[in-house]
Amino acid sequence: MDEIVALAKRRGFIFQSSEIYGGIGGFFDYGPLGAVLKRNVKDAWWRENVELRDDVVAFDSSIVMHPRTWEASGHVAAFHDKLVDCRNCKHRFRADHLPSLEKCPDCGMTGTLTEPRNFNLMMKTAIGPMEDTSAQAYLRPETAQGIFVNFKNIYQSARKKPPFGIAQIGKSFRNEITPGNFTFRVREFEQAELEFFVPQDGRDLEWFNQWVTARKKWYSDYGVRPDRLRFYELTPEERPFYAKAGIDVEYLFPWGWGELESIAHRGTYDLDRHIEYSGKDLQFFDEATKQKYTPILIESSAGMDRTTLTMLIDAYERETIVDGEKTTERTVLRFHPKIAPVQAGVFPLARNKPELVERAQSIERGLRAHCRTQYDEGNVGQLYRRQDEIGTPFCLMIDYDTLGDATVTVRERDSMKQDRVGQDALEGYLRERL
Ligand code: ATP
Repeated sequence: MDEIVALAKRRGFIFQSSEIYGGIGGFFDYGPLGAVLKRNVKDAWWRENVELRDDVVAFDSSIVMHPRTWEASGHVAAFHDKLVDCRNCKHRFRADHLPSLEKCPDCGMTGTLTEPRNFNLMMKTAIGPMEDTSAQAYLRPETAQGIFVNFKNIYQSARKKPPFGIAQIGKSFRNEITPGNFTFRVREFEQAELEFFVPQDGRDLEWFNQWVTARKKWYSDYGVRPDRLRFYELTPEERPFYAKAGIDVEYLFPWGWGELESIAHRGTYDLDRHIEYSGKDLQFFDEATKQKYTPILIESSAGMDRTTLTMLIDAYERETIVDGEKTTERTVLRFHPKIAPVQAGVFPLARNKPELVERAQSIERGLRAHCRTQYDEGNVGQLYRRQDEIGTPFCLMIDYDTLGDATVTVRERDSMKQDRVGQDALEGYLRERL
């Protein structure tokens, strides 16, 4: 993990937030490559769950919502973790993360831990110039509630009827007691949530299973190693009382299994609560049957920072290359070509030859419309090593032959095999493989 964190910083994937001021716990920034990687992960989710379907519509709600929202959702009363302090070393822990309440894991003293007490994870803010309780609001701890409170606006304006879904990707905030494991548990993160509303016709579990299958396919399409991914089925005791089924999608991180996404059958709980708290009618009125009912909700809620981290860890490999007598080591990120931040690196064989530089730059410019490219120059071995480390699937070397016969050496990241491809055929060659 330390190697991955170091690489993430060195190559510009992820930086600690406000590093020059000593950092701030639970917040991270995405560098030039990380920002693209995360965007690609989000786009891949969006493409599959919104654009390629005719039964899911897009949504984007505000981060700060009416405080009553969080009373209705249950977050004010119950969005707690149990907090424990050590009276000796003053460190703070989540009770359920401690092996025992007897002994402090940091200073090793026994009998110094306080009784566990509830700590609400919602981040508070104040609206307007008054900072009294009347102005108090929260930064949303999940994006879903924005969808529920707008349910009627959305289905009416989009002219949709169940079964149909509403999707949103956006920031959420949680005042985690112990953020950690790099970007796995942070205080500001992005969620991709899909709320799929189905009729009360007895097919709700079928829909739940369809979504589980669709989400399995998504992870597999993007090459997440199957032996590091599991779909854990929650027992009735582990589920909220209103949920008929639940699956946690988990990845085997270097520190153990961790949740990436939860897929849940939430019954009619969320809409019912908002109907009760707002006094507004959020039921669906079916024009065809003239019947009114609360649709059943199937939810998929995935963390985009955790998924991006998964892609980074899953892609990471240290490889020993044996070439005759010589063995060398390389670090390679085997990203799926669709999410790789750079898809084609383009270099001149020598940076002091203007005709090579010019040709390489012109080829790189020509390819920009078709894939994510990067022009670079320098020592050939170092150029390849750098692109392997950032997971670039193809490297294009412009050499003296290019100037004569207009062909280019294309090197593939994983096999390191080289192909000679005509300059005019490059676009098609890359399109086929990316
Ligand atoms: P955990 O048990 O790990 O705290 P959770 O069960 O509270 O997670 P959900 O409320 O189901 O998480 O949120 C859905 C998804 O949002 C999670 O699967 C995860 O990917 C992401 N997520 C939740 N909390 C965080 C966090 N603090 N940092 C990063 N991602 C998070």
